[in-house]
Amino acid sequence: MIYLDNAATTPMLPCVKEALKNYIDDDVFGNPSSQHAVGERAAMLIEQARENVRKMFNAREDDVIIFTSGATEANNIVVNGIYAAFSRSSIEHSSVNPADCDPPDYEIAVGKNGVVRIDDFAFAAEKYADLISLMLANNETGAIQPVQNAAAIAHGCGILFHTDATAAAGHIPVDFQLLDADFLTFSGHKFGAPMGTGGLIAKADAAEKLSPIFAGGNQESGIRPGTENVMGIVGLGAAAEYYADKTNISHCVAHYIQLNSNFFNVLYDCLDNWHLNCYTDGVDCVRNIMSIRFPGVLGNTLVGLLSADGICISTGSACHSGEVKPSHVLRAMGQSDEEALSTVRVSFGLENTIGEVREAAKKIAETVRILWGVK
Ligand code: PMP
Repeated sequence: MIYLDNAATTPMLPCVKEALKNYIDDDVFGNPSSQHAVGERAAMLIEQARENVRKMFNAREDDVIIFTSGATEANNIVVNGIYAAFSRSSIEHSSVNPADCDPPDYEIAVGKNGVVRIDDFAFAAEKYADLISLMLANNETGAIQPVQNAAAIAHGCGILFHTDATAAAGHIPVDFQLLDADFLTFSGHKFGAPMGTGGLIAKADAAEKLSPIFAGGNQESGIRPGTENVMGIVGLGAAAEYYADKTNISHCVAHYIQLNSNFFNVLYDCLDNWHLNCYTDGVDCVRNIMSIRFPGVLGNTLVGLLSADGICISTGSACHSGEVKPSHVLRAMGQSDEEALSTVRVSFGLENTIGEVREAAKKIAETVRILWGVK
């Protein structure tokens, strides 16, 4: 099997598996809120993980780091604060939305290249927001967004800025201080940590504006009530420690560039008449996510046939109750329903090899030819 759906979820890193094994072997079972040695041991593990996350994202000493069940919850906590007006880019994940499902006050346009239109961002910041969201990298196209610039515009308008770094974390260096966001959210299972882990980082003054989205205890600075997922947090901390090391993140970036060029070399050699929804106009993208359109082919059909051949990729579309909908990201980029539905997403992980991605590209080309009815 060749797994190329790492933007959906990644296998756990070896160091994460090791940390989880040690956690189990050491029999750490205490409740971190307990006032005794057994509880304190669990609490200490959480604080170690928090320090690792602080290093991975270069957060300041006084920035507040809250552990959650993932990016969906972290995004909900940020967006469901006390804000009267909320705007977001039109390519955000569906969890960057108030839980009452009211649409945002304004959706900021993106260009055909998948990058937010900064003039429209500035318009929204001035007119329609006291909180505004722009993701760091898009999870379907990989397009890196001008987050630093956007944060400066938001602050110039006196409003708060949130970035969802889920598709970027672990794939490019993410520096909370440099980006100057008020809130940054992330998901553990997209960078080799266990599922059910993630969190948010907030500047100290911005954190004061957050409130919990459900009632309960005073855990995680009172912002995320409920006994902590200690084992998951230990795993997350191990992954964060790995990515906090600059040598490791540089190795990942280099690995993805190499996989990327090998994959595309084979695809260019084997097939004509396909289109990239990423790297258009020289747009900078994370190198592990690629969005590719094969005209006349239903993405869903291609994904199914490849799966039967042991190759796991995904569509660029969301499937709700059996109904396949065109991706809102590709629609926002000006593509027709038909174009959006003929797109697939290929996403690499650290464990992939050059041989695997070359084989997958060959198989994709062969399968597309079959669907086109050509030799
Ligand atoms: N934001 C982005 C950009 C994502 O890709 C995802 C996961 N598809 C999420 C948020 C939600 O993450 P989680 O699975 O941790 O809830």
